[in-house]
Amino acid sequence: MVSALAYAEEISWAKQLASLSKLFGDIALVTPLSDNAEEASKYYKKVYVVKTKTFEPISVGKAIENIVSKEGAKILIFPCTNKGRMLAGILSGKLGAIPVTDVINVSSSGEKFIMTKLTFGGNAKVDVEVEPPFTLCISAGALKEAETRGEAGEIEELEAPEPQIEVSFEPRKAEGVSPEKAEVVVGAGRGIKKKEDLDMIKELAKLLGGAWSVTRPLAADYGWADSWIGISGLMISPKLYIAVGISGQPHHMMGVRGSKVIVAINNDESAPIFEESDYGVVGDLYKVVPVLIKKLKERRGR
Ligand SMILES: Cc1cc2nc3c(=O)[nH]c(=O)nc-3n(C[C@H](O)[C@H](O)[C@H](O)COP(=O)(O)OP(=O)(O)OC[C@H]3O[C@@H](n4cnc5c(N)ncnc54)[C@H](O)[C@@H]3O)c2cc1C
Repeated sequence: MVSALAYAEEISWAKQLASLSKLFGDIALVTPLSDNAEEASKYYKKVYVVKTKTFEPISVGKAIENIVSKEGAKILIFPCTNKGRMLAGILSGKLGAIPVTDVINVSSSGEKFIMTKLTFGGNAKVDVEVEPPFTLCISAGALKEAETRGEAGEIEELEAPEPQIEVSFEPRKAEGVSPEKAEVVVGAGRGIKKKEDLDMIKELAKLLGGAWSVTRPLAADYGWADSWIGISGLMISPKLYIAVGISGQPHHMMGVRGSKVIVAINNDESAPIFEESDYGVVGDLYKVVPVLIKKLKERRGR
């Protein structure tokens, strides 16, 4: 028996969610990836590997529901990813558990737990007091990775129930390193006038050995990229974030606050991004970025 179940696909998420055992007691991990199971077992009392042909949320949710009944867990923990949110929603409904999303801190007060969560699109924080049963989705970057436990937990493999509907996933075509893992990210906003002009953003990112991405309007409205940075997109924490032609609206800034250093290039000196940047260049990106590229190439002898 465990008091909580955590769901994670990536090992870094598994290690972060394990840190909640200090508050919740023993946690079992549910993961679809057997490759991570041995490493994860150093952090959990038990690891369930739920095997599926493809990720179909209702069938994975059913598998988790079965584990919940077996283990008697009353707390379900998910990362705030698309899949995590989907599963948290399904299981909250099935188990009558209170769903709490976008959690950035958890503490306890007697029998109750206090979740600090983001609200109003990430512009404010609120404390929510809950008692089990509940499900929670943890925001990226909220937790530090746990220490390993003394002894490795048991690993059990299960088959997820056969999906009732057919789902197929086409992986995103990866161009180089992903923004979530890169040490340097160059972000482009609506200061960029044409899709072709993103080439200079990509070139700058490549010269810095990093990744590029965009604000939501460029991806969701113009279709120039298939993902974006921000509260409704990717949460990044690079060593350096260069924001090019980005105004710095809270929805976007929520996704980059984990960056160590933020540099903004914007031709409007009153743009809000300058208030959250470590360094700022007030200027036309069409003049500044080519100079940066030229200087970097000179340095690298290209
Ligand atoms: C529910 C909800 C969720 C959202 N989630 C997200 C999210 O996850 N991520 C996200 O990014 N947005 C999100 N948004 C949208 C967000 O609120 C902003 O509208 C968006 O971030 C603005 O993008 P931007 O900075 O590219 O554009 P703008 O705000 O239009 O800013 C463009 C900037 O470019 C500058 N500029 C123009 N020309 C030049 C030039 N030649 N040289 C230099 N600078 C120039 C301008 O001065 C301006 O500051 C969300 C909105 C909603 C309602």
